[in-house]
Amino acid sequence: MPWSRATPYGDEICFAAGLFPFRKLSSLSPQEVERLWRATYEALKAAVPVLRQRVGEDIHHKVRDFLQVHGNGGQACPKCGSRITEIRANGRLHNYCRQCQPGSLIGSFAHPARASLAQGSDGRR
Ligand SMILES: [Zn+2]
Repeated sequence: MPWSRATPYGDEICFAAGLFPFRKLSSLSPQEVERLWRATYEALKAAVPVLRQRVGEDIHHKVRDFLQVHGNGGQACPKCGSRITEIRANGRLHNYCRQCQPGSLIGSFAHPARASLAQGSDGRR
């Protein structure tokens, strides 16, 4: 099962950890699990003060413009400058950098037809 389901923060955590967002949990090495854990902590630690300041009383107000990859398909990766890929899978939008988060979609989904690239945001399909 891919573990980047908690978008948008799932995208951010995978990006910070340098992990392909559609890998199966069972395929992660102990070192990758450690990176994932640290990235989760750091991503949420960075997001909380921003959200506290900008969301205010309207808890349904979604502030996402400070995120590094989620919602930024086609834009330059803040780490390497490559264009951020945008994929719609199982009804959810996912963004990641193919250079910083290498991996393959082949074998990542039980039903490959459910994954499709959205608008060729990086020029590749
Ligand atoms: Zn990158």
